[in-house]
Amino acid sequence: SYNLLFLLIISRLISTIGSSKPWNILLPHKLLNSDISDRLRADPAAINSASTDYGHIVEQNPAAVLYPSSTQDIAALIKVAYNNSVPFGVAARGRGHSVRGQAMARDGVVVEMLSLKSHRDGAGVVVSGSYLSGFYADVGGEQLWIDVLNATLGHGLAPPSWTDYLHLTVGGTLSNAGISGQTFRYGPQISNVYELDVVTGKGELMTCSAYKNSDLFYAVLGGLGQFGIITRARIALEPAPKRVKWVRMLYSDFSTFTRDQEFLISINERGQKQALDFLEGSLLMDQGSPDNWRSSFFPLSDHPRIISQITRHGIIYCLEVAKYYDEHTQNTVDKDLQQLFKGLSYPSGFMFKKDVSYVEFLDRVRSGELKLESQGLWEVPHPWLNLFLPKSRISDFNEGVFKNIVLKRSITTGPVLVYPMNRNKWDDRMSAVIPDEDVFYTVGFLHSSGFDDWKAFDDQNKEILKFCDNAGIEIKQYLPHHTTKKDWIKHFGSSRWKTFSERKSQFDPKMILSPGQRIFSNN
Ligand code: FAD
Repeated sequence: SYNLLFLLIISRLISTIGSSKPWNILLPHKLLNSDISDRLRADPAAINSASTDYGHIVEQNPAAVLYPSSTQDIAALIKVAYNNSVPFGVAARGRGHSVRGQAMARDGVVVEMLSLKSHRDGAGVVVSGSYLSGFYADVGGEQLWIDVLNATLGHGLAPPSWTDYLHLTVGGTLSNAGISGQTFRYGPQISNVYELDVVTGKGELMTCSAYKNSDLFYAVLGGLGQFGIITRARIALEPAPKRVKWVRMLYSDFSTFTRDQEFLISINERGQKQALDFLEGSLLMDQGSPDNWRSSFFPLSDHPRIISQITRHGIIYCLEVAKYYDEHTQNTVDKDLQQLFKGLSYPSGFMFKKDVSYVEFLDRVRSGELKLESQGLWEVPHPWLNLFLPKSRISDFNEGVFKNIVLKRSITTGPVLVYPMNRNKWDDRMSAVIPDEDVFYTVGFLHSSGFDDWKAFDDQNKEILKFCDNAGIEIKQYLPHHTTKKDWIKHFGSSRWKTFSERKSQFDPKMILSPGQRIFSNN
């Protein structure tokens, strides 16, 4: 049998050398002769681009990269993987903005979703509907949210729920949740989807919704790429506003800050119409400037007095809100805001306001990206940690983590976000995992580091997780990264884990999809 193996390897090598597509010998010969062979590449440029991500922490080489021209190409690839005697991994890669290798497939095939964009013949985002039945957009899974914004604005419409950064793919964020300051009111992006087209782990193209193949629909939303590759999503649209009143207030006291945040997101008590459209929060610490790469907001003339507050208190908490308006509401928006802010307790003299276009507001992170990119500071390691935690433990988290770990270590570089959301805007049937309280917080440590020192940030992340564990704070990781099955089961909780693994057996029984998540394989 050794001789047979030797012969097999030699024959593969010979076919490899004689081929213009010299992919790794681990992939089956069948691929070479398949209809999609022209769209597979294994040259160093293709392999390198798919072997790294925004995190720059994990590196895994695929055997080949598929540049699909259609959904059928993706289905054909997965069918080969599924029917091969030894199935190989297949990972959709959106923009590769994961930070721990989640869109990689070691020795398998990475599907470069962006390749579909140039084959859509202008139909990447199609708007339909009516005022009576509501509007929606049918969007390719490979489209960026900025493309969705630009296309829908042409019809005076826009999705209500966003991420802070719009240069991510629709399929990538729907595989996680898609959260931002709109989530408390409109739910995460996964709560704003009507229908999906998905290529399952068996290579079948299925349409699913809450009414049709609903198991697949709920599995895929927040499903970490485990059940199928999203090729189309039908996304809810609403009339788009024109402009935004954007306000930040600074607090030195954490409990006043969170009380005000929670008051502002309690929309049920004050009715949907009067609510804000966006609410976030962040920490200001001694990082040289109260602004950071994600947005420059504070007038330069105010920097000295803000910095002196930071020096005095160590941490200042920044509440950030927005209210949209258009020509019909431009005369009342300021009064509405005043009304909303009644009863808040931010210190006087520490409210800062801007009035910007809707697009400028939504795409606010882009200019920071371009600036960092031009300085060579974008493609660096990003040892990020994103958490959800129950409201009842947020002040323990402030004492134990913000004050006793983050402030003391003083290595934090980059934004630290902290803001609450309402659980009732999430759907429990979906795969996304959140804490079990009506209001919960998201905390994001969005570190950038040098190539030599990312481990120091990773150590801080581990210390934070350990603190939460010891203190019994039931956190859930957002964009989760776990390395053992035990930790994944803990992440989901035993009953949700049962549902998640049953759905895996149903839709991807050979464990082909998104192996870089390391949920069902240690790849
Ligand atoms: P990738 O990283 O390419 O893929 C992520 C996972 O989804 C992988 O497992 C992949 O296999 C799978 N996948 C990709 N495409 C598909 C598809 N079509 N069908 C099925 N599975 C697929 N997240 C937020 O929620 N809110 C934010 O405000 C936010 N801001 C961010 C800002 C920056 C600068 C960065 C780098 C990330 C941010 N994120 C945010 C995180 C982001 O949502 C996730 O990293 C997301 O996965 C990135 O999308 P992507 O298109 O790059 O996906």
